[in-house]
Amino acid sequence: MIEVTDLRRTYRGGTEALRGVSFQVEAGRRFGVVGESGSGKSTLVRLLAALDRPTSGRITFRDRRIDDLPERRLGFLREELQLVFQDPMGSLDPRMKVRDIIAEPLRGAGRAERVAELLDAVGLPADSGARYPHQFSGGQRQRICIARALAPRPSVLLADEPVSALDVSVRAQILDLLDDLVRRFDLTLVFVSHDLSVVRHVCDTVAVMRRGEIVELGPVERVYEQP
Ligand code: ADP
Ligand code: ADP
Repeated sequence: MIEVTDLRRTYRGGTEALRGVSFQVEAGRRFGVVGESGSGKSTLVRLLAALDRPTSGRITFRDRRIDDLPERRLGFLREELQLVFQDPMGSLDPRMKVRDIIAEPLRGAGRAERVAELLDAVGLPADSGARYPHQFSGGQRQRICIARALAPRPSVLLADEPVSALDVSVRAQILDLLDDLVRRFDLTLVFVSHDLSVVRHVCDTVAVMRRGEIVELGPVERVYEQP
């Protein structure tokens, strides 16, 4: 599904945020990227979403190179790969009703039914659509973001610290929801977090990053066995 080959990103000023990162994510995988602050996770997320360009190296998405495509040819990726961010409020327009947020990527007839379906899929009450983001709790707002991300029927969810801003009490609920949705909709999940325990909760494969490199990569049980 995703293939990353010798990816490097050096910022102006000389910081080598990624120093030759390679990995593959097969369809259906729940792939975790874990590392301390500054290890290069956000840089990697931006490159995978084609929001930034590598200094060198390659990224292919379903066998198509995306690292060198102009924005106008990235339409397929903007649908097929959806992002879920750390701060749900930051990615929700406070002036829009929830149903309009979720329906934004939808076209044509049947939008209302699809919104109802998505609200149900993420465990929000059916009447949520008529309300505004600020009327919801942090965990519920993340559910709204997830519903919005699912609307275009992506094949990949790229979740960047999706529970790090949430109360500890709701984290497990959101992780369980992601786990459930990934199975139900046959998604590939790329899950980025500084928190090992969170990655372990949802991922089957883990890459551990340190200073711009992958220092461990393998099945979640094996990586966690390491002393
Ligand atoms: P993480 O998400 O793991 O905290 P980042 O990808 O944000 O890691 O950062 C990796 C390194 O790149 C850090 O040293 C950070 O300071 C630097 N960095 C990140 N973004 C930029 C930028 N836009 N310009 C310059 N340096 C950056
Ligand atoms: P455009 O890219 O032309 O501004 P879109 O409909 O693609 O319009 O996106 C509208 C908003 O939806 C974006 O500003 C962004 O916040 C969000 N969005 C778009 N694509 C994605 C994506 N792949 N993952 C997460 N959010 C997205």
